[in-house]
Amino acid sequence: MNTRMKGHINTLLEIDVAAATFSDIRWHYGTFNTLSSGEGRNKTYTYRNGVKTDLGDIEESVWYRLAEAVICREGEQQILSWLIEWESEHNYSKEPPAMLRQQALKSHAARIFDCPQWVHYVPFNKRYRPDVYAQAHIVSVVNTCCKKIGEVTQEQIDRAYEGTVCCPHCGRWSTFIIPDKREAEHGPCQKCDCNDPDMGCTMPSIDRNYACPIYDRQDEPTADKHS
Ligand SMILES: [Zn+2]
Repeated sequence: MNTRMKGHINTLLEIDVAAATFSDIRWHYGTFNTLSSGEGRNKTYTYRNGVKTDLGDIEESVWYRLAEAVICREGEQQILSWLIEWESEHNYSKEPPAMLRQQALKSHAARIFDCPQWVHYVPFNKRYRPDVYAQAHIVSVVNTCCKKIGEVTQEQIDRAYEGTVCCPHCGRWSTFIIPDKREAEHGPCQKCDCNDPDMGCTMPSIDRNYACPIYDRQDEPTADKHS
């Protein structure tokens, strides 16, 4: 019986684990194969889930062990545990712990935490890797959904999809403005006709709930914030 296909890696022994880099093992996409053996009515089928990488098509469970081994070799178990913690706190589809670990391994192999385009780049690194956060190109934005100041990276702005970025507060993709420094400190303002360079907002408070584009009932601006 031979269910082995060319380019398929089915054991760790076939891989030079000591030399494998994160780039080598990066998960490009999952593969699925039906493998048959035997003839006629004795023919049997097995199924194989694989992972397409630069090294070849690695059987999925082998890939997870490989990723664990490379992370361990690089002394990055701490980052992996942060990723798992992060995944579990954002586990909206209630995946079991084993799945969270697998997801974290995929993210780790992709070094997602070093990608400024990652939508969680700012909060993740702010919490776990303050040195990385301190070096990031942070931009304060106000998304139209939540109308609150939040932080994204310049890289996310540069790659804004149809003029939208992922809102730091609610995670929705929405359009945004970049308030100036004064607004960042005193609250966002889109500088409508009521904005006076010296006085700030001159809109009567009674008009704000319908006339101000950034007025938020839950977060009613005080007179101080608008002056
Ligand atoms: Zn939002």
